[in-house]
Amino acid sequence: MRLVLLGPPGSGKGTQATRLADELGVPQISTGDILRAAVAAGTELGEKARRFMDAGSLVPDGVMLELVEERLRAADCARGFILDGFPRTLAQGEGLEAILGRIGGRLDRAILFDVPREMVRQRLSARSVCTECGRVFSALTAPAGGTCPQCGGRVARRDDDAGPTIDRRLEVYEKESAPLVAYYDARGILVRLDGAGTIDAVHDRLRRALGLVPA
Ligand code: AMP
Repeated sequence: MRLVLLGPPGSGKGTQATRLADELGVPQISTGDILRAAVAAGTELGEKARRFMDAGSLVPDGVMLELVEERLRAADCARGFILDGFPRTLAQGEGLEAILGRIGGRLDRAILFDVPREMVRQRLSARSVCTECGRVFSALTAPAGGTCPQCGGRVARRDDDAGPTIDRRLEVYEKESAPLVAYYDARGILVRLDGAGTIDAVHDRLRRALGLVPA
């Protein structure tokens, strides 16, 4: 299955992508995780991306499209993938179509995680992330010792989950990413999902929406 997950930062895309990817046996491709790893490793990509990320702005489309095409050409994507945090602009959406045209395959669904702005803000202000495997924790699930129970990595707050940068990222989402909803709706593959509630409740809704369990 080839899926795109849409929704504002903090809408639960990453958490659900991780679970669904395990169940479907396809890779979760989080462009945010790829960029954070590049920044941490000090690669050329990381150097290019860092100042945009620190400001809560988007990394230029050309950089993102090149990165995603290379990733989608990898052998583990042959049976499908879950894109989490990409596309984020109309140009990236169109670029993704072109990439799929070149490498073969079509998107099955674009899932929109619908979450009220205030809830998103609360989630972002309370979340922490494993700096190794990218697993996301809420205030309730954060490990006491700051060590990831999954991989033993260090769990920390993200630099861009701070007040002014959260506001900027939400603004950027409304302006740049919201038009993708109409884009996928027009192609007949948009699924709107209520993203409020517990991780399990949202996951159940997601599985039903994808027809993995009877509706
Ligand atoms: P995320 O982890 O998805 O919230 O992404 C963190 C940051 O990485 C964003 O605020 C952007 O600066 C950058 N980023 C991630 N994905 C993209 C993308 N598809 N296009 C442009 N910038 C991105």
